[in-house]
Amino acid sequence: MAAKKWDSNKEIEYFREYLRIPSVHPNPDYEPCVEFLRCQAKDLDLPIKVFYPLDKQNPVVVLTWEGIEKKWPSILLNSHMDVVPVFPENWTHPPFGADIDEEGRIFARGSQDMKCVGMQYLAAIRALKDKGSKFKRTIHISFVPDEELGGRKGMLPFVSSQDFKSLNIGFSLDEGIASPTSELPVFYAERTVKRVIFKISGSAGHGLLLMPNTAGEKLSYITSKMMEFRAEQVKRLKDNPELQIGDVTTINLTSVDGGVQSNVVPPLLTACFDIRLSLDTNVSEFEANLAKWCEEAGGDIELDFGLIRRKDHIPPTVTNDSNPFWVAFKSATEELGLSTKLQVFPGGTDSRYLRNEGIPALGFSPMNNTPVLLHDHDEFLHAETYLKGVDIYQKIIGNLANV
Ligand code: ZN
Repeated sequence: MAAKKWDSNKEIEYFREYLRIPSVHPNPDYEPCVEFLRCQAKDLDLPIKVFYPLDKQNPVVVLTWEGIEKKWPSILLNSHMDVVPVFPENWTHPPFGADIDEEGRIFARGSQDMKCVGMQYLAAIRALKDKGSKFKRTIHISFVPDEELGGRKGMLPFVSSQDFKSLNIGFSLDEGIASPTSELPVFYAERTVKRVIFKISGSAGHGLLLMPNTAGEKLSYITSKMMEFRAEQVKRLKDNPELQIGDVTTINLTSVDGGVQSNVVPPLLTACFDIRLSLDTNVSEFEANLAKWCEEAGGDIELDFGLIRRKDHIPPTVTNDSNPFWVAFKSATEELGLSTKLQVFPGGTDSRYLRNEGIPALGFSPMNNTPVLLHDHDEFLHAETYLKGVDIYQKIIGNLANV
């Protein structure tokens, strides 16, 4: 049996052990993760701290490998402990079993997103320590909760805490995405998420009339404007093969509410759009456009942008010679002969909170020639790919910690 081949590999066993912890939404219990990481810290002979930036249910675990230059800004290797829910009936292996099949594929929720990366950091550090390596900069390896729900119970409160400030982070690595080709994406920025609810008021009355200014007419106008904008972005993406989904603005109508019964024209209809603005879209101008369309539709429309309303994009991480961490990262991948491609992350990760604090952050998961299965059924990672990733991290971490 091929799976037997991996039985004696300590790193594969640690990875599988971590995958078997069901830290799954909703209501993940992180205590078994914390316990597991305490054992890892002991094995690695590294100090471990557990912070609670929001509450006792949401721990942030940090292992630290002190550098020679204790005062220099440190390197953060971040990963999240939580995973998204599963539909076990759609899996061919138990989602928290971490089975290895004949080919060496390890099946589990979190095998790509992103328990792999967290364990690869530790495996790389174990290997570096075993070789007797010493680095200039201190390395912190963080394991955070709640990323899959937006990090409001994890990285968001953590970055504004004194505990975080005392880590003195100068650069951070976080998650990327698998790649079905040999090319590895490196993410240096994210689009700005703008969730908008149009609360559309209009003349109410009997459905047999033809009243002016009904909510339905206004909704129709706004939806057509939004869909025109959407069609332009579809065209942009189609016409330019260089562009990725993260390079364009996406707009989707995600919910419509309101109404009483079929023969009553309602006084209020609401429509929610999920919008992710590309970096070349001016955020304030876009908002001004929405307001203009509301007026053109007939007015009396409230725009609800939710609690988090950014007026501008979070500045991307600089990827040129002026950023020594970028240079160190890039040269590590070049020395390893890896083909990489800079991209804007299409969704949201914890990196945005770090970038918002002015900390350069790159999203990178060394999983090439691997189907993209994050949040999907039968999520897996090949054991060979996992171990190759550990080697890649040894080089990258070594370079970064010596900048
Ligand atoms: Zn993730």
